[in-house]
This record gives sequence, C-alpha cells and structure tokens, in this order.
Amino acid sequence: MRMLNRYGICLLCLLCLLLLLAAPLVVAQDLEDALRESLRNSEEATAAGCGCGILFLILILVNLAIAIILMVWVAKDAKARGESAALWVLLMFFLSWLGLIIWLLARPKGAIVACQNCRNNKLESMTRCPHCGQESGTP
Ligand SMILES: [Zn+2]
Repeated sequence: MRMLNRYGICLLCLLCLLLLLAAPLVVAQDLEDALRESLRNSEEATAAGCGCGILFLILILVNLAIAIILMVWVAKDAKARGESAALWVLLMFFLSWLGLIIWLLARPKGAIVACQNCRNNKLESMTRCPHCGQESGTP
C-alpha cells in the first residue's frame, strides 16, 4: 500500500513535468495506462516502477532537447524576420508545440536572404537588417 502511494506520487510528478514540457501527451497517457495495467498484473511492482522511471526520464530528456532545438530555431527565425526573439522564445517555453504552430502561422511571410553586410539571415522585403541595422537595397 505504502509502495503504491509513493509510486502514485512519482507518477504524478512526472506527469506534471510532461505537462510543463507539453510533451506529446497522448503518447504519455497511453504509456501510463499501459504501465499501470502491467503493474496491476505484476508481482514485481518495484522493478517495473524503476524501469518506468528511466523510460519517463528518457522521454523527458528527449522532449527537453527537442524543445531547446525548436526554441533556438524560432529565436533565429524571429530575429531574421524582425520580430522579438525573446518574446517568441518565451511563448515557446510556455506553449511548446502550440507556440511553434502559432509562430509558423503568425510570422511575417517572405523569402529569407543573407544580409549583404553581416551575412545573417533577414527577410528579403526588409529594408533594414535586424542584425546590423544596415540599410539595404540601393540597387
Ligand atoms: Zn546585417
């Protein structure tokens, strides 16, 4: 009984973390259900709990890595398109996948070209480079 309670609290904490990271929740839910089902049928609840903890840890780390990569990409893309990188990274931090979708829908559209002065990416239609402030386009 005591073991089950501890396991339940552990599972709850991991679920909260997953929620915070906005992980693919459906997968996590399926996994949790499957694990709970297997635990119910298993005599070795402790061993299974350990395995499940490691699995969840890996899942969280992979999600964290993906989230960081996406945040870096969004920051660069936002900067190149003349938007506030900090604002969008913050949005990505709290909304994760949803933030990415909002960014992809809301970002200024247009071709990305390299600045002639600093070689950083910028929106082709922008007259001033968001990186170096160089006025461009006197053809
Ligand atoms: Zn530039």
